[in-house]
Amino acid sequence: MSHGGGNWRWTSITKYGFVIDNRRCIGCHACTVACKAEHDDPIGVNKTWVKYIEKGEFPNTQRNFSVMRCNHCDDSPCTDVCPVTALWEREDGIVDFDPERCIGCKACMQGCPYDALYIDPNTHTAAKCNYCSHRVDSGREPACVTVCPEDAIISGDMEDPNATITQTISNQEVQARKPEKGTEPKLFYVDGDEGSITPGTTAREEHYMWSDSPSRMEVRGAAREEFDLRRAAESLAESDVSFGDDEARADGGCACGGECACSGDGDRVASDGGYATGGAGGSAGQKSRTEHAYELLHEEARRVYDIGESHYQSWGWEVYSYTWTKSISAGALLVPALLMLAGVVAPSADLLGVSAFVSGVFLALTGVLLVLDLEQPTRFHWVLLRPNWRSWLVKGAYVITAFGGYLGLVVLGWLAGVGGVVHPLVLGVGAVLSAATAVYTAFLFSQSKGRDLWQSPAMPLHMFTQAVVAGGAVAGFLGLAGFGELVGPSRLVLGAGIVVHAAIVASEIFTPHQTEDAEEAAARITRGRFSTAFWVGGVGVGIVIPLAVLGLGGSAALVAFSGLAALAGLFAFEYCWITAPQTISLA
Ligand code: SF4
Repeated sequence: MSHGGGNWRWTSITKYGFVIDNRRCIGCHACTVACKAEHDDPIGVNKTWVKYIEKGEFPNTQRNFSVMRCNHCDDSPCTDVCPVTALWEREDGIVDFDPERCIGCKACMQGCPYDALYIDPNTHTAAKCNYCSHRVDSGREPACVTVCPEDAIISGDMEDPNATITQTISNQEVQARKPEKGTEPKLFYVDGDEGSITPGTTAREEHYMWSDSPSRMEVRGAAREEFDLRRAAESLAESDVSFGDDEARADGGCACGGECACSGDGDRVASDGGYATGGAGGSAGQKSRTEHAYELLHEEARRVYDIGESHYQSWGWEVYSYTWTKSISAGALLVPALLMLAGVVAPSADLLGVSAFVSGVFLALTGVLLVLDLEQPTRFHWVLLRPNWRSWLVKGAYVITAFGGYLGLVVLGWLAGVGGVVHPLVLGVGAVLSAATAVYTAFLFSQSKGRDLWQSPAMPLHMFTQAVVAGGAVAGFLGLAGFGELVGPSRLVLGAGIVVHAAIVASEIFTPHQTEDAEEAAARITRGRFSTAFWVGGVGVGIVIPLAVLGLGGSAALVAFSGLAALAGLFAFEYCWITAPQTISLA
């Protein structure tokens, strides 16, 4: 079916999309209400909603409306990360969703950079705009399109040259949300306001004049003493975001005519060190791009109506506990296996058996935490039985299952007195499986396109290193518990592991980040509300104390104590690393 200027007809469809014409939108919320009625959605959640942004000061004020929803991305990260194909791209370009398949793992909410998904409080499954695919299949337009009194929402086939949507996109300047994410969104805004489509340019409040926002998303820049407006403007100016027709002079220079303090590169510098806004020095058509960006931000665009962001900390204590127990499980087997393979420690069935047992206990805990985190815990086995092989949740589940099977066999072999249990091949397989168990989560996090800080290329190495630190700690405990031959090697492994871990933390947190969201998340860890956990727990307890204690001597008690501190520090770091990026506003 195709929409060609209001008439729907059967043709071969390849690409459904939306255009929201902001010049027409009157912010009446008819689309929101029609959507809720069409899908019988409960109170408090929305598949589509209208954000209000206000700018300026009386009497020169402006209010902009933006209709927000799923972008039906051509390269959708939500369908990649969904482990059970509850989300999928139809051949006509609609990203559809089946709650009957959903296990409620919330990975899609981490993958979507637009906060388009939420957990339905009635079904305990994810939900989002599905382009009213049931209506489309019966020849009708989505409910929001039908109800809009201003024809501000245009739907149709973007491959049909005669369709209104295609003509609008071809003839008008349009904007998309976060094109830099590479998701190829198929929702475009005519006259898209920067303050509306870029979430970081406005602060979220808990209470608005007409609505409450139940989430506790933090204000951008709250972690810093002062939001660096000048730097933000420069960054915005360097992007390919359009500011409209009058965005910049062709020569980029200042047209102040000598009436302003010009920086020489065309940017007027105000007395506060920012860029001059308004007043003497030129009209709208005479500003450099950086000036215009500064002015846009300086206008102090304010959200005055919004809904709560559903992705806020959708992965909670269960997930940062799971990454921690998983590191311990992987390291508990990895370190002794490598030490025996390298000949540093003599092969011992008892050592391997006990290590496998400890590893198995923490792997079981990992599994329990993973199931606990699901909104539909009774469907957990669907990850294995209904797999989406593009999802690292599925690959990880199979890795964990294989590792669990290996650990069970080793423990059984040890208890049965099988001599060959410490054969190099057995040790090698254990080392590979434990390393894979440690590292796969890095690839799962990289599929979480909504979390910029998790896109660090050092993540696989960091996950491996954390397992080595945890394994060194477990080996230290085993040294205290009777495996005296482990004391010296575990001291070395623990110390080296902590040093590498500290170096990677420094590179991930303190070096410049590619995006403002990653920068902001790192600032919240070092200077915001996560700073105590990071500096006291992650750095003080997890790095400084164990290194100092290891430097004091190599007794079994000191090594075990260092290991305990290192494990506590890893937990604190995981808490910061997993939680802070989830406090960044996405919509
Ligand atoms: Fe929609 Fe988000 Fe998935 Fe894109 S990533 S298709 S916006 S749910």
